[in-house]
Amino acid sequence: MTSRISMRSAYETFLDAACERLGYSRSITSLLALAALEIKVEIPIVRDNGELAIFSGYRVQHQNARGPCKGGLRYHPEVDMEEVRGLASLMTMKTALVDIPLGGGKGGIDCDPHQLSSRELETLTRKFVKRIHREIGPNSDIMAPDVGTDARVMGWIHSEYSAIYGHSPAAVTGKPLALGGSLGRDKATGFGVGIVVRKHAEHVDVPLKGATAAIQGFGNVGIHTARALCDLGMKVIAISDSRSAAYRKDGVDIDALIKQKKERGSLHEAEEHDELEPGKLLELECDYLVPAALGGVITAENADRIAARVVVEAANGPTTSEADRRLGERGITILPDILANSGGVIVSYFEWVQNLQREVWTLEKIDSALVHILGKAAQNVFTHAADKGLDFRSAAFDIAVSRVKEALDATGF
Ligand code: NAD
Repeated sequence: MTSRISMRSAYETFLDAACERLGYSRSITSLLALAALEIKVEIPIVRDNGELAIFSGYRVQHQNARGPCKGGLRYHPEVDMEEVRGLASLMTMKTALVDIPLGGGKGGIDCDPHQLSSRELETLTRKFVKRIHREIGPNSDIMAPDVGTDARVMGWIHSEYSAIYGHSPAAVTGKPLALGGSLGRDKATGFGVGIVVRKHAEHVDVPLKGATAAIQGFGNVGIHTARALCDLGMKVIAISDSRSAAYRKDGVDIDALIKQKKERGSLHEAEEHDELEPGKLLELECDYLVPAALGGVITAENADRIAARVVVEAANGPTTSEADRRLGERGITILPDILANSGGVIVSYFEWVQNLQREVWTLEKIDSALVHILGKAAQNVFTHAADKGLDFRSAAFDIAVSRVKEALDATGF
């Protein structure tokens, strides 16, 4: 699958360029390219029909010099070590860029959660934790939701881990509120996308009212991004899931689409919306294009047909390195993933802190702390880019890489 291969090589391309600009040695570049720990386990479960099914589970801890590894757990049939490795390294850069005391990790299981019953998913999740529990935990590696996982899955992880080590809510974030989850975690990534878009619009002095956006992905990030952009006065003219898309010139009705998806499982033939081929969404004419699904969707093949002014990377690794170069040449601005979608890990960090301190913060406190941290990170990127004549991704990587290097230096290796 091109997305997985390209995500890793895109990370390495961006990392190499940053290390070269910063004058780092080849050995430092290699160290930042490698993961500290890679785990693969086989997980057999008995399906509801009595058959045995075997899935592969992965966890990669990329870097922990700045703090325990932190990163999502993905349930998707195409998950493999290469993809998880690429996503884990992006997490190291993300936590460093927004300057929270965490490192980078990621995990996944190569299953299709839509084809498994709740019992099967719970068994799979609990067995995964049984196999890797020695390597995860509040001070080593903290999981969170990603594609195909949600608060329910995080709750099972919490329960299984706590059965071994005693009540340990800080071992996993994105949990249900009843188990020590944080207010605001559900919407955090999309809400954060809104913060970055607003900061950028202020930076370039362009009004957002009436600006159009197209969003690829109708999951946690896509839906909450749509809401955040609407709150900024923008019009979300199109949104898609993996098999269907809805379009409306004056702005789609998110609540109606959520209801339809729940009832009919798809965005097809949504009332008062026009049909759109999901593959065409990326090429729509709009001001802001927001990939919010999988990685590697903007490639050398379609980069010249992207018709937006700004690409906002709500997904992880949606743009290959070649496409990144092509979009840059065409004057299309990219708000990079390690900045644009970092709201999720920032509120995960708040959840971890609340759990460790046995505190419960109000939503107002969480939202305003997120606005502060992410707004500051965005401003740093824009200022650094202007000072050094860099695009935003290069500026973001330079800031992140130099912070990780500083921590490595301080540890003495
Ligand atoms: P999700 O499982 O809730 O939703 C994923 C959505 O993408 C679904 O609507 C699915 O139908 C759609 N999709 C899958 N393949 C598609 C395709 N080829 N075309 C169009 N749509 C497709 O996942 P999520 O949590 O919303 O994550 C989305 C992206 O955001 C991922 O790249 C993830 O790594 C990234 N991300 C998530 C978080 C988080 O807090 N959940 C934080 C940071 C980054």
